[in-house]
Amino acid sequence: MHVPVKNICDLTKMIKTTYEEKDLNRLAKYLNIVVAHRQMGKRLASCKGFYIVISRIKHITINSDLLEEEQEIILAHEIGHAVLNHDTEIIRDFQLFPTKSYMEIEANIFAAELLLNDDEVLERLYDGYSFSEIAKDLIVYPELLAYKFYAMESRGINELNSPIGIKPDFLKSFSQECRMEENDESDIWWES
Ligand SMILES: [Zn+2]
Repeated sequence: MHVPVKNICDLTKMIKTTYEEKDLNRLAKYLNIVVAHRQMGKRLASCKGFYIVISRIKHITINSDLLEEEQEIILAHEIGHAVLNHDTEIIRDFQLFPTKSYMEIEANIFAAELLLNDDEVLERLYDGYSFSEIAKDLIVYPELLAYKFYAMESRGINELNSPIGIKPDFLKSFSQECRMEENDESDIWWES
């Protein structure tokens, strides 16, 4: 992976403690990321959201047709791409390698760390909740909770025993999340 898991966790922690902002739209603003919401369809193949850098300004567009919880997860994921500087330089440099997958994993680790606190997961574990019960109680996809377990284990919290592994493209499995390449001419893609 391009960015070590621990660094992603440290970065997320720093952002959470610096801004103490649970509203992700406001958080994005503090991070100098422009966020737009636009209708992109409710079909399984509809784009969920995308991240693009135009003239050095970071833009995120979220599909406003999605459920609120879905929009929240997608926005957290796209902020991950933005703060981890997943810019097109990297894509062009490493075209022969599966950069897309590692970027998706990194953005998902960021989203899991941003949206879930250790305490709320550990409390439920100590209270005997199963993995799926924790996911249900915290209203997150089990796949995102798997990322949270993965991040916590990377930070030395052992024996969490996620029953499922992390999947790079789990956001796609329930719909489409895409990421546009930087292109100075592509300003038709978002509404400012
Ligand atoms: Zn992504």
